[in-house]
Amino acid sequence: MAVEKLRFEPWGVRGSFPVAKEGFLSYGGDTSCFSLLCGDSLAVFDAGSGLTALGERLERERGVRSVHILLSHAHIDHIMGLPPFLSGAGRDRTVHLYGGGSTLDAVERLAGEPYWPCSLRDSGARLHRVDPGAPFRLEGGEAGARLSSMEGTHPGGCLWYRLEYAGRSVVYFLDCEIDRERRLEMIRFARNASLLVWDASFPPGRERPGWGHSTWAQGAALAREAGAERVLMAHYARDLDDRALERLERGAAQAGDACIFAREGMEIKL
Ligand SMILES: [Zn+2]
Ligand SMILES: [Zn+2]
Repeated sequence: MAVEKLRFEPWGVRGSFPVAKEGFLSYGGDTSCFSLLCGDSLAVFDAGSGLTALGERLERERGVRSVHILLSHAHIDHIMGLPPFLSGAGRDRTVHLYGGGSTLDAVERLAGEPYWPCSLRDSGARLHRVDPGAPFRLEGGEAGARLSSMEGTHPGGCLWYRLEYAGRSVVYFLDCEIDRERRLEMIRFARNASLLVWDASFPPGRERPGWGHSTWAQGAALAREAGAERVLMAHYARDLDDRALERLERGAAQAGDACIFAREGMEIKL
């Protein structure tokens, strides 16, 4: 019997803040949000502005019974989509939010007055605190996805996730700066992943040490060492327009790396 492929979709590929200008929309202008369908549960990585488009899809397609949002950190580009989502698509199904303690605290403040008319409590969303290193399962999901996390290298801290389901795995490294001391730990965490999602904020040669971001070349090198099957570039800086990203993508292809540059609306089969 053929094994059904899992559907991984980018909904927001931009870093820092959304961009809605001509010349940027072939790759996309919404901020971090990605989904992986695990049976009738939907795992969502981060709740950036791309979560709005995902919410619209869920309004049209009724098959998803529970949504599990894994938050990396509380920088605004990773949580700004949450308030409108919870008062719309989040209403008809159980929504679970996972994240570090300070991230969940920030989300509770953001989703509610004075920033938004509906509170997190009104939405019925359930909060689950994640401690780095402690494995957990998606609660209330019937799909049995297994998760682990590690502390990320990013200003203010963040969590990176590894999700295992039906023999496939996704490792989510947003946002991240390569820390030489923890590189081996990252490689172990990403070992043999089916897909590694990488922070390609800056073009190679334009790194900004201490900003907490990386380049596609750093991600490609780490994916090779980890034995990851594919690496998906995302979190592009706001000044990288479609032409700049096309150039970077061509450069990565010439270097022979199994890199995919994320575009909103694409679908990756795992
Ligand atoms: Zn970010
Ligand atoms: Zn950040």
